[in-house]
Amino acid sequence: MYNVPFLDLPPLQSAAGTVRLPGSKSISNRVLLLAGLSEGTTVVHDLLDSDDTQVMLKALRVLGCRLEREGEALHVTGLGGRLATKTAKLFLGNAGTAMRPLTAALALLAATQGGDFELSGVARMHERPIGDLVDALRQLGCAVDCLGNEGYPPLRLHASGQALRAAQPIRVRGDVSSQFLTALLLALPLVAQAGDIDVEVQGDLISKPYVEITLNLLARFGIVVRREGWQRFTIPRGAAYRSPGHIHVEGDASSASYFIALGAIAADTTPVRIEGVGTDSIQGDIRFVEAAQAMGAQVASGPGWIEVKRGRWPLKAITLDCNHIPDAAMTLAVMALFASGTTRLTNIASWRVKETDRIAAMAIELRKLGAGVVEGEDFIEVTPAAALRPASIHTYDDHRIAMCFSLAAFKGVPVRILDPKCVGKTFPDYFEALFDLVRTPVESVPVLTVDGPTASGKGTLASAVAQALGYHFLDSGAVYRATALSAMRIGVAADDEASLARIAATLPLHFVGGDAHLGSENVADALRAEDVGAMASKVSAWGAVREALRQLQLSFRRIPGLVADGRDMGTVIFPGADLKVFLTASAATRAERRYKQLISKGIPANISTLRADLEARDARDQNRSVSPLKPAQDALLLDNSALTVEASMEQVLTAWEQRRPFG
Ligand code: C5P
Repeated sequence: MYNVPFLDLPPLQSAAGTVRLPGSKSISNRVLLLAGLSEGTTVVHDLLDSDDTQVMLKALRVLGCRLEREGEALHVTGLGGRLATKTAKLFLGNAGTAMRPLTAALALLAATQGGDFELSGVARMHERPIGDLVDALRQLGCAVDCLGNEGYPPLRLHASGQALRAAQPIRVRGDVSSQFLTALLLALPLVAQAGDIDVEVQGDLISKPYVEITLNLLARFGIVVRREGWQRFTIPRGAAYRSPGHIHVEGDASSASYFIALGAIAADTTPVRIEGVGTDSIQGDIRFVEAAQAMGAQVASGPGWIEVKRGRWPLKAITLDCNHIPDAAMTLAVMALFASGTTRLTNIASWRVKETDRIAAMAIELRKLGAGVVEGEDFIEVTPAAALRPASIHTYDDHRIAMCFSLAAFKGVPVRILDPKCVGKTFPDYFEALFDLVRTPVESVPVLTVDGPTASGKGTLASAVAQALGYHFLDSGAVYRATALSAMRIGVAADDEASLARIAATLPLHFVGGDAHLGSENVADALRAEDVGAMASKVSAWGAVREALRQLQLSFRRIPGLVADGRDMGTVIFPGADLKVFLTASAATRAERRYKQLISKGIPANISTLRADLEARDARDQNRSVSPLKPAQDALLLDNSALTVEASMEQVLTAWEQRRPFG
C-alpha cells in the first residue's frame, strides 16, 4: 500500500491484462456478522482484508467470537445468539457496514440479555446519520442513547428494563440509507423466537440491490425473509442463524468499476480481464457494466469474470438514474471526462451522507481538472474539457475518490492523488493492481537522479526520496558491485573486460523488498564489503561492462516513477531526468562518515586509509574515459557536508515540487 502523503500518476496511455479483485466489502462484513451471531464455525473464503473488515473483525473478537486464520480462509466461531461479553466499547472507524448492523444486533442483545455497549468511530462517522435506525430500535423498546448529537454516533446501547414490542410492525425509513433496513434484517432473527417480526419501510427504499445482498446472505445462513415488494419484510417466527459451514466471498463489484472503466478508456487492443466477479454476482454494482456499455465499453462476461475493451470512442455521454449503483456511479462521473457531451447522473442524494459529501467532493475535484460541473441536491452533471489541466486531487478520506480519479491520468495529464492510502478502506493494493495493467511511453515516467562520489550519502538520500514519493528506487552501484562480486567468486580479474562484460550481461540480479538478490541468494550484505566496492570501482571503468548493464538500469523506470542514484544517472543513463541532483560533500566529510559507519558496525577502520581510498576511487570515477563522474550541466549541486539526511531530502523535495505541474 502507498503510505505516502501523495502519489503522482504520470500521464497514462493504455491498459491490458488481468486483475484479481479483492473480496466485496458489503458481503464480507455481512458474512462476518452473520457468522458471528451463528452457532458453530463458519469457514469464510476470500474475505476482504481492508480497514472496514478489520474494524468488524476486531469488534467480533471483543464480543467473544473465535477467529482463526487457516491459510487463505478465516474460521469464525459465533456466539450462537448469546452474549459472551456484556460490556464493551467498540471503535468502528468510518465503516458504515460495521456501525449500522452492530448497532442493531447489540441493541437487541442488550435489551434481551442485559449489557452495555458503546459504539463510536472517526469524526466523519459521527456526522453520518443513524437516527432512522435508532428510532426503529427505540420503537421496539431498545435503549439507545446518542452520546453526541441526537441521531448520530457515538451511541450507547444498554438494557431498558422493558420487554421488546416485537409483535407490532417496526417502521424504518428507507430513503436516507438502505443500511438501516439491512441492519434490522440482519439482527432481528435474534429475537424472532416468539412470533413473526414485520418491518415496514417508510418512504421509497433507495439502493435496493444492497438489501438484496442482505436477503441473499440471510438465506445462506438459514433465514428466509418474506417480502411484499420493497415495503414490507417478515422475519419468520423461529428464525435462527445456521452456519452454512463454508462460504465464499465474491470479488467487490464496486471495485470492479475502476477496471471496467479502465478497459473502456484504455484497452484498445487486448482487453482488461477482471476476475472474482461476473454475471453470477449477487451485488447490485455489477449493473455498472450496463452503464459502461451505454457509454461505449465492449464487454464479455461469464460467471466470475468480465473482460472489457474500448468500443465506441470517444465515450458517449449518458443521462442515468444511478439509484441502483450509488457507489460505482462515481466512476461514471470520471468516465464522463472521456465522453463527448454532458453526462448527467441523477437520484444520487445518498452520496451526500457517505464517507464524505461525495456530490460536493466530485464537483470540486472534477472542476480542478478543468471539467464543467453542475451539481444539485441529488444529481451531478459533467461536461469534459478538450484538454485537462494537471490537478492535485483531494481525497477526503474517501477510497472511491482516490480510485476513480486515478483514471483521469488517461487524459494526457499527470494527476496527483493526495493521501492515496485511503484506498485501504476497501482495496489496499489498488494502485499496485492498476500499475500492473497500465502502460505509458517510458519518457512519461518521471525520473529523479542523485549522483555523487563514493560515500556522499546519495544512497540514503535517494532511497528516502523514493520512499517519500512512492517511487521505485535504483541503487546503480549495486549493479556494479554485483558484477564485481560475481567476478571475484569465479576468479575473473579486474582487467578482463570481455569476461566481465559477459558476467554483466547475464547477471541474475533482482531486488526483493529493497535487498539485492543474485539468483536466489540475498547478497545485500556481501555487496557492501569494502573489497567488493574496490573491485566494482575497477570493473565499472570498462565501457563494455557499462553497456551490458545499461538495459538493466533502464528497466527500473516504471510507473509511477523512479529515483536512481549513482555516478552517471543524470549524465548517461537518464539524461532526460526531470530533476538531477549532484552531491558535492568533501572527501574529508565523506571519509569521516564512512569511518563512523564502519565503526558502528564493529568493523575496524582507519580514517586516513579510508580517505586515501575514497580519493583514489574519486580519481578513477572522474578520470575514466567512459561515463566519468561529473555533474550533468543542468544538475542541482547540493553540498550536503553539513546537512542531515532530512535536511537534504527537504531541499530535493522542494526542487522536485517546483518542477511538477501541480502548483
Ligand atoms: O555507489 P557505490 O559505492 O555502491 O558504487 C560502487 C562502484 O560502482 C563505485 O565505486 C563506482 O565506481 C561504480 N559506479 C559507477 N556508476 C554508477 C554507480 C556506481 O561507475 N552509476
